[in-house]
Amino acid sequence: MSADEKVAVITGAASGIGWALAQTFARARYAVCVVDLDAETAKKRAGELNGNHEGYGCDVSDEGQVERTFAAVQTRYGRLDVLVNNAGIVGSQEPSISQDMVYFDRITKVIINGTFLCSRAAFHPMAAQKSGAIVNVGSIAGLTGLPRRNAYGAAKAGVHSLTRSLATEWAQHGIRVNAVAPGYVATPMVQGLVDQGKVDSARLCRRIPMARLGTPEDIADPVLFLASDAARYVTGVTLSVDGGWAAFGDAGN
Ligand code: NAD
Repeated sequence: MSADEKVAVITGAASGIGWALAQTFARARYAVCVVDLDAETAKKRAGELNGNHEGYGCDVSDEGQVERTFAAVQTRYGRLDVLVNNAGIVGSQEPSISQDMVYFDRITKVIINGTFLCSRAAFHPMAAQKSGAIVNVGSIAGLTGLPRRNAYGAAKAGVHSLTRSLATEWAQHGIRVNAVAPGYVATPMVQGLVDQGKVDSARLCRRIPMARLGTPEDIADPVLFLASDAARYVTGVTLSVDGGWAAFGDAGN
């Protein structure tokens, strides 16, 4: 590792937005830890980045796995500069009245517990360095009301709240905590909903002022900004990255 190389842990990095994040941070000369439930793809992706990168299999909702993964990162690199809490699941999006509690619990556990457990594990190396940046991937579903996004929307609102809470508590340790709230992004997660007829992408594009779905790269670049020294006086914010979706109050004309 060169003296100026920084280390970034990105969760859910085997697919979609997380994979774009991994490539963006690697291009910005970070050593990237590709963390994902899918261990095999995580390791393959780290190899594809072609450099001082490593893949780790980890369920972010499992305290023991998270602790072991961050310990392994510390052993391998001896430092941690950036954590991006990106891992997430959207669930079946059934009407709330027939929501299965197994799914409800799983969604909140992966999104809220996962974000908290990884942030807590990142605290120790970052506080020891007196510097670090955490960026959480929230959602417009955590900012506005969307039908059938009961557990998902509540969990993402929880992520936005955790962002503010940890930012105010950890600023004294040199750790900044921010979030992005993506709109609809063309990833396997959204494609799955389109395929099931639960999302109509043409209708969505008419609702988005910029008239297109986001790309994973549209999300990765603002995350890199929030993680960088260019955002050194920014903490506790949730930045909407949604083509204007959340700003748009439809006046019906
Ligand atoms: P995706 O399904 O393409 O990728 C999610 C990745 O997270 C997968 O590689 C998956 O294996 C991993 N993952 C799932 N559960 C995990 C766990 N318990 N531990 C570790 N890894 C786990 O999804 P995406 O669309 O790229 O979404 C990434 C993030 O962005 C999620 O937090 C999602 O909620 C958020 N988001 C997505 C959109 C969108 O439109 N795609 C919009 C707003 C927010």
